[in-house]
Amino acid sequence: MKKKFGKLSLTTLAVLMSISAHLQAAESSDKKKDQAPPIVTPGENGSAPSDAIVLFDGSNLDEWQSGDAAAKWTLLKAESAMEVKKGTGVLQTKKTFGDVQLHIEWATPSEVTGSGQGRGNSGVYLQGRYEIQVLDSFNNETYYNGQAGAFYNNAAPLVNASRPPGKWQTYDIIFVAPKPQEDGSVKPGSFTVLHNGILIQHQTPITGKASTAAAYSGATPKGPLVLQDHGNPVRYRNIWIRELN
Ligand code: MG
Repeated sequence: MKKKFGKLSLTTLAVLMSISAHLQAAESSDKKKDQAPPIVTPGENGSAPSDAIVLFDGSNLDEWQSGDAAAKWTLLKAESAMEVKKGTGVLQTKKTFGDVQLHIEWATPSEVTGSGQGRGNSGVYLQGRYEIQVLDSFNNETYYNGQAGAFYNNAAPLVNASRPPGKWQTYDIIFVAPKPQEDGSVKPGSFTVLHNGILIQHQTPITGKASTAAAYSGATPKGPLVLQDHGNPVRYRNIWIRELN
């Protein structure tokens, strides 16, 4: 009797385990079906993936404006690039964005003039408010939270990953926007930045305090991408963005 009970018990256990395994497999399979990630085709050599908004591919400045007027910076079609036109002011996107992944390439002038903040200065402002500094920081001293890759006036880069003047460089930026709350407070955001593929900002907090000389102030759900005219002929190319919210 004891032996029989043991057999039954083992059989029951085996059946229960089998049912449990089937249920788990079915649940896992359903989860995969429900949550299948969208297919995105990567770009070649840093070009835009299939789900990105192309902001600049070298052919035109249609996505950009200077204030309320047409874009005034110089289009260099032969190089698929654009260049800061001194004195015309910032260039900004017509579209506005919240949380994003941004890819942008830039080059400071190969002919070196000036020093410190006067050498190859421009900047990439998320929402026109929070500047990731563009500067020739190759053998060029300045204050640390103002060098290339700094969250300007807030946080120095973790390392100096600068290429020499005139060379093309990349920023890949994950920006989580500070979010204005109903009670008037601001939920902090963050910057994660790769400079030439090297991590230089790692979830750096953004409390809502704008960078000095920002185009706009105050936290906002969405704002334009803004490129700075700091009087130096800095070039940009291959700019694309993916919306994350
Ligand atoms: Mg700047």
